[in-house]
Amino acid sequence: TIQIDRLNKHFGKKQVLFDINLSFERNQMVALIGPSGSGKSTLLRHVNGLNIAAEGDIRINGLALLSKGRLSKNVRQQRAKIGFIFQQFNLVNRLSVIDNVLIGALGRLPKWRAYSRTFTEAEKRQALLCLERVGLVDLALQRASTLSGGQQQRVAIAKTLMQQADIILADEPIASLDPESAKIVMNTLQNIHQEDGKTVIVTLHQVDYARRYCPRTVALKQGVVQFDDATTLLSNAFLNQLYGSEAQLEE
Ligand code: ATP
Ligand code: MG
Repeated sequence: TIQIDRLNKHFGKKQVLFDINLSFERNQMVALIGPSGSGKSTLLRHVNGLNIAAEGDIRINGLALLSKGRLSKNVRQQRAKIGFIFQQFNLVNRLSVIDNVLIGALGRLPKWRAYSRTFTEAEKRQALLCLERVGLVDLALQRASTLSGGQQQRVAIAKTLMQQADIILADEPIASLDPESAKIVMNTLQNIHQEDGKTVIVTLHQVDYARRYCPRTVALKQGVVQFDDATTLLSNAFLNQLYGSEAQLEE
């Protein structure tokens, strides 16, 4: 469970999040939508402790991550439970696919141990199982840079499995992908969510993917929550008002 209370974020004088109160129950798949600059990435980054607001509280599974502008001392342990997926496939290009997945196992170690680490056979087997879950076990020994964008995103998903993250935060994971790859990546996220009961929060530019995959959608506009409900309730009139001329309503 992620509990966000009265979160207000400023960058300098500019306020970008206004009194955000949201909770995400375990085992939800939630879309976060809204126009460019509405604060989607900033909100996700707070949940991972990458951004710190001066005002507000965030609790992850009952433990404070942020309280009254202070980041928890245990942020490293809390972050270990959260997998983060970026638009630009943040893999180490020169490493093999399996080594990229194995990096996921480092998140649970204290820093001083992570640096001097070789992986055990059991971990390598585990990494292969994670790759199997995303359908890429055959590519385990290839360099990450040789994979397509969609395949790289699935490696990133396998890495969160290796990490044993309870929560997956995905910031525009399909924004750089063609529709076919986007669909495969969204199906993979949905499978992981349904089979492992993971909480998935995904920011999306295309509303039709939110409609298809996410039972709940949160919409932000200029840092304010405009909508938080079942995705099917999103009317075209609402979306026109949310996005203005930017609307992307194509099916
Ligand atoms: P997009 O759809 O383009 O990814 P977004 O909804 O993710 O947009 P954010 O990146 O969260 O929007 O940005 C919200 C606001 O905060 C924007 O006005 C942005 O310019 C501002 N902002 C984000 N990061 C910083 C930063 N590090 N310093 C200053 N301003 C920032
Ligand atoms: Mg963003």
